[in-house]
Amino acid sequence: MDQRAVNTHLNSLTIPTTSRGQIDYQLAKESVIREFRRGRLSKADICDAQPELLRVARSVGVATSQPCPICEQQSIVHVVFGFGTKLPKNGRFVANWHELQRLSKSHKKISCYLVEVCTNCEWNYLLRMFAKESKVADSNSDTQ
Ligand SMILES: [Zn+2]
Repeated sequence: MDQRAVNTHLNSLTIPTTSRGQIDYQLAKESVIREFRRGRLSKADICDAQPELLRVARSVGVATSQPCPICEQQSIVHVVFGFGTKLPKNGRFVANWHELQRLSKSHKKISCYLVEVCTNCEWNYLLRMFAKESKVADSNSDTQ
């Protein structure tokens, strides 16, 4: 995948800031990283990605240009999982915004979890949780 394709893919995952019920965990993440750098948390405490998460991250995660905050040897990838009444118990990987739109139409409401993953050191952190409802108008999804 060339850089332009990567950028297009990333744009397709842009999450509207108007989503209702959105929770951002960025500050909590920075706190965890600080504790690690001060030696209060070990790598084993925070680099504990489940095998399934690593598998999804390696095969279909969205590449970013952000270095892993823990090992700094590899860029992190983003993975979005959707949870809803008719979706698998462990969630369903959502590849892009259009797929999310399609899923929300057939599933009414989906809770989505955006996770950053390092496939090198197995760091993983929930970045954001947001709900996607079929009633929400998304007129700006293709114009950003
Ligand atoms: Zn790492």
